[in-house]
Amino acid sequence: MKAVVFHEFGGLDVLRVEEVPDPEPATGQVLVDISASALNHLDVDIREGVSRFPVEPPFIPGVEVVGRIAELGAGVDGWQVGDRVMVLLMDPCGTCRFCRTGRESLCTAAGFVSFSTTGGYAEKIACSARQLLRLPDELGDDPAAALQIAFGTAWHMLFGRGRLRTGETVMINSVGSGIGSAAVQLAHLAGATVIGNASSDEKLARAGELGMDHGINHARQDVVTEVMRLTDDRGVDLVYEHVGGELFQKGLDSLGKDGRLVICGGHSGEVVPFDIIPFFRMQRQVIGSFVYNRNEIESCVELARQGKITPLVHATFPLEDVREAMALMERREHFGKILLKP
Ligand SMILES: [Zn+2]
Repeated sequence: MKAVVFHEFGGLDVLRVEEVPDPEPATGQVLVDISASALNHLDVDIREGVSRFPVEPPFIPGVEVVGRIAELGAGVDGWQVGDRVMVLLMDPCGTCRFCRTGRESLCTAAGFVSFSTTGGYAEKIACSARQLLRLPDELGDDPAAALQIAFGTAWHMLFGRGRLRTGETVMINSVGSGIGSAAVQLAHLAGATVIGNASSDEKLARAGELGMDHGINHARQDVVTEVMRLTDDRGVDLVYEHVGGELFQKGLDSLGKDGRLVICGGHSGEVVPFDIIPFFRMQRQVIGSFVYNRNEIESCVELARQGKITPLVHATFPLEDVREAMALMERREHFGKILLKP
């Protein structure tokens, strides 16, 4: 099969499109013909060797794929060749104390696409049948490929970890990103008042079309001042944070009493100073969030099937143009996901 491979860590120029052996489905696995694979910023960190995950070149990146089952390994029941499927990022063990209590995002022995399998920037992937989620006819391949990580992460952060309730006010950082725009849609659907920020008026306008109530351009407005103006100096109930650095600190300062900040990333500054005094006096909380649970993705797929949420696709590229696709993502000018189509 054709696949994107890097043999050393580095910039875009380490990416090569090569012929590699087809993966073979082991017992309990299926082989999937990939129809679309979404790019994620994690892929850049992995390529550069700074992801803090164990990555050994040569490596095929890509963690988010949809496709059709091409072959069944031994012992696979309930699936047929030709079934349209989403491959879930995570392959939880199913038996640890977290899996047994419905908290598989905390699994102590999970596999992940591209780490326990080959990667998604390829024509095929072999994965555990436990990782498959059946796609409804109403959801096309491209929107399905754009759904999982953006909406799954957003659902887990907003509802699973952040406990967002109808009537609360949430601030969503960087609404132009995949997980930012997904969070705008889900929080709006849940009946929250949505304040969002971004670095451009164009991204704020797009987020407004998705249900954002108030936009803050953090390139020329002070986030905390604007939040306090919009909330009559109360602050927000929940901050949805995935940026790090200054926006993390502004997020903390934007919280009201008993406010929560839920966070899943920190590209713009992974180590920050933290003022303890207002934090405890206001009885605030900072909550970590990592991946999502299967039932949360199932909820998102159902909402997409009903047309209540829209996975956004910014552009699609053939595998051969992977450098161009990643360069587009690294410029951070896109709105919605960038897909590779083998
Ligand atoms: Zn487990």
